[in-house]
Amino acid sequence: MANVADTKLYDILGVPPGASENELKKAYRKLAKEYHPDKNPNAGDKFKEISFAYEVLSNPEKRELYDRYGEQGLREGSGGSGGMDDIFSHIFGGGLFSFMGSQSRSRNGRRRGEDMMHPLKVSLEDLYNGKTTKLQLSKNVLCSACNGQGGKSGAVQKCSACRGRGVRIMIRQLAPGMVQQMQSVCSDCNGEGEVINEKDRCKKCEGKKVIKEVKILEVHVDKGMKHGQRITFTGEADQAPGVEPGDIVLLLQEKEHESFQRDGNDLHMTHKVGLVEALCGFQFTFKHLDARQIVVKYPPGKVIEPGCVRVVRGEGMPQYRNPFEKGDLYIKFDVQFPDNNWISPEKLSELEDLLPARPEVPSVIGETEEVDLQEFDSTRGSAGGQRREAYNDSSDEESSHHGPGVQCAHQ
Ligand SMILES: [Zn+2]
Ligand SMILES: [Zn+2]
Repeated sequence: MANVADTKLYDILGVPPGASENELKKAYRKLAKEYHPDKNPNAGDKFKEISFAYEVLSNPEKRELYDRYGEQGLREGSGGSGGMDDIFSHIFGGGLFSFMGSQSRSRNGRRRGEDMMHPLKVSLEDLYNGKTTKLQLSKNVLCSACNGQGGKSGAVQKCSACRGRGVRIMIRQLAPGMVQQMQSVCSDCNGEGEVINEKDRCKKCEGKKVIKEVKILEVHVDKGMKHGQRITFTGEADQAPGVEPGDIVLLLQEKEHESFQRDGNDLHMTHKVGLVEALCGFQFTFKHLDARQIVVKYPPGKVIEPGCVRVVRGEGMPQYRNPFEKGDLYIKFDVQFPDNNWISPEKLSELEDLLPARPEVPSVIGETEEVDLQEFDSTRGSAGGQRREAYNDSSDEESSHHGPGVQCAHQ
């Protein structure tokens, strides 16, 4: 203990280096409860650290190695368990903790199982309000009848053909002093390294050591979670003998919403108003993601230009882990103009008297040519409603909220 003062694992459990077994156990239980992925799905890393620290310190051999030689002692020690590299680099630094992928590498014969990924479709309402849902899945667990042995104790025999190595090595002499070594998977034991006599095989798992079990996970979708966010259940993936189970990872998939589009913590929606509303003020009501009826008022005298955007502060999505803070709601206005010949020419001149005056047209000197202004199909994309839009505005494009020139000057 003298030369290496590495106390990280003790620190993780919050105990002094001289802590007794009992103190360790108490500290571990408390922390494991607090950070258990069922309760705290996003503390997967923390939970792994705690489990790892306890795994080492509760094992007298490992603890001694660690006390004497620190991290290095564990790395080189014999008791390496699966996933060591990852948890090592996570706790002791040196690289990102790799969550996904190639974690099944072998270390002292013990491996870490594959992580299982499941997509989880959630509505925007779920992400706004938060949701607890149960997920049923089928996974391999160690057979309880034989404790994952495949048969009663003693039934499992080292394969004699390969002497338990799972592979057979054949050496062929090609020429004097020159040999060729060939390695192949042992056919007697299918590379398992062990065999069980048929009569001794566990009845429950038929010697397979694992059985399928239906597991129900309680999934907490927190307010403000995002598309692509992961919810991890540490060590809940398939079990196999001698393998540290991987994680079950749920990948959130946000479903499209019919009225709102999300951009980070902000929401965007489009609202149609008529010309009279655009010029004379309006009021409308919409249903928010938590079913509140929101009334939007715009006073007479304020003008809505076609395609302009107005913002309602604080009516966007709740922030993840800080749900009382919300983003903003952007409303883009789609101004519906009246149809051709909607009013008699006499009335039109009355209207003209009310509208802002026409600009003066400078008189043109010289020869002129008059052209025809024709209808142009701008109704594409407007499903159902055949109301022609008087301006060419692709209002169905959700990506245009931040486009240049869309945002009009305020008030
Ligand atoms: Zn069994
Ligand atoms: Zn064999």
